[in-house]
Amino acid sequence: MAVIAGNWKMHMAPEEARAFFCAFQVDPVMADHEIVIFPPSVSLFTACECEYRDPRVQLGIQNLHWEDRGAFTGEISASMAVRAGANYALLGHSERRHVFGETDEQVALKVASALRHDLIPVVCVGETLEEREAGRVDEVILRQLDSALVSIPDPETRFLIAYEPVWAIGTGKTATPLDAAAAHGTLRGRLERAMGAATAARTEILYGGSVQPSNAAILLAACDVDGVLVGGASINPESFTEIARASG
Ligand code: PEP
Repeated sequence: MAVIAGNWKMHMAPEEARAFFCAFQVDPVMADHEIVIFPPSVSLFTACECEYRDPRVQLGIQNLHWEDRGAFTGEISASMAVRAGANYALLGHSERRHVFGETDEQVALKVASALRHDLIPVVCVGETLEEREAGRVDEVILRQLDSALVSIPDPETRFLIAYEPVWAIGTGKTATPLDAAAAHGTLRGRLERAMGAATAARTEILYGGSVQPSNAAILLAACDVDGVLVGGASINPESFTEIARASG
């Protein structure tokens, strides 16, 4: 069983979300996978209430603020996301980190807030091309992971990690299965040292970065890859169906 997650980013207004769920149906080939969609927050409640959505397709919020309420114009709290239908929270996505300047410390606060409200955090980590070329992949992804783990003291807590090399997101360039396996192995090794073997074995590590129907199966087959986080290809029900049917 793999986790197949779709990050719709700033696409899919409420009526488009409804059309997606009308076209995307869970079939027996993908029924063993855990399927999660992260709509934009204005479409979350519509997606939750949509009569076409198979209840096996779960929902998440793409970002949240760490405070529960207050004078934070434009922000959404974890408790609001839960009440709008989210079970998961995508945190520290590279677009949040690199376009909006989100820091490791802020991601850690968001992880803590998600857990307080029983949202399952999906913590994104990944290096830029410059960092990869400088041989700093492990340093960067472990720093991002360690910082988030400060907010996850209990080894029984369920959370997911998404390894998303920044240079592969929305670029059509995908990490090779070997590159993905190496980064995932590094992350799992750190999880084992920090939280124990059982947590490391249980925690799903997803690969994200230009996943398409053509490369999903080979990436899912890579060592230590427990699922995929799909951006661009997740807003099209046909391509997301093909990806969800792929298995490693
Ligand atoms: C993402 O947004 O998390 C992502 C991986 O995007 P894409 O699949 O478009 O590269």
